[in-house]
Amino acid sequence: MNESIDRLLVLYTGGTIGMQQSAAGLMPASGFETRMREQQAGEPGPLPNWTFQELQPLLDSADMQPRHWLEMARTIREAATQGRCDAVLLLHGTDTLAYSAAALSFLLLDLEVPVLLTGAMLPAGSEGSDAWPNLFGAMRALQAGRVKGVRLFFNGVLLHGARVSKLRSDAFDAFAEAPRKRSAAVVSERPPVLLPQQPAEVVVLPLYPGVGAAQVRALVASGAQALLLECYGSGTGPAGDADFVEALRTAHGQGVVLAAISQCPGGHVDFGVYATGSGLRDAGLISGGGMTREAALGKLFALLCAGLDQHQVEHWFCRDLCGEMAD
Ligand code: ASP
Repeated sequence: MNESIDRLLVLYTGGTIGMQQSAAGLMPASGFETRMREQQAGEPGPLPNWTFQELQPLLDSADMQPRHWLEMARTIREAATQGRCDAVLLLHGTDTLAYSAAALSFLLLDLEVPVLLTGAMLPAGSEGSDAWPNLFGAMRALQAGRVKGVRLFFNGVLLHGARVSKLRSDAFDAFAEAPRKRSAAVVSERPPVLLPQQPAEVVVLPLYPGVGAAQVRALVASGAQALLLECYGSGTGPAGDADFVEALRTAHGQGVVLAAISQCPGGHVDFGVYATGSGLRDAGLISGGGMTREAALGKLFALLCAGLDQHQVEHWFCRDLCGEMAD
């Protein structure tokens, strides 16, 4: 099978890669297509043919919101289904790159076209920048047929879009995949196509000594449809606080999805290890296994946006859809 790319869509959303200096600091800047074409003239080939599209407004990815995930997903899906591209290279700021990669992994679960994200720690053209190596390295990875699904190319490495996090703000190897000991069980059921139908409100609550019922109730009152609890260790929390547990139980009874991941970068949720874990499970929490915060948030968002009810969201959240659940 010839996997080479004939029609690559480069989708530029902003980020350091194309930023220019302003009085207030680095800011996103237009005109990146011309700079890319000039730079490509000196790059060794073969490189795919590409077209360029800017998503407006260009953003520092610190300003990305879930509605931007939906816009990126819609733009990519439209281009792919209209036959305008056979691969997508998404240029994005690094601060929330892992969140967008995770959300797109689920919003585009059914898409055959590979989607590769990249960005840079230093702007293109600045001394010693990683921008051109990341960008043209990503193009070469696509051209070589190395990309399936949603992936991130950074500092010479291909990373899983739903397993990656930004771990450093001061080095070119800023991204890493969550460690995994084994893959999650293969799901025999056909996963749902997650086409966005409605808005979704997902809130993350890291547990910390002092967290209590008041925080849970406030978040539920703010309109959260899903609460992603970042538990301790293997999925524990203050289950000895009867008021806290009751607030969770009530929220669950009102239809709020209660999902758990671990604050530890390595390991996974296993409620049965401690009584402080099984107490949370009994209140209605479901396990996100070894999912990252980015993956769990993007997955809950995509499941809720697709219009699934509480029971269906809980069902699919616990199942591996694209390699995100490995622990
Ligand atoms: N703040 C920038 C952004 O996320 C950082 C970067 O791109 O590296 O857009």
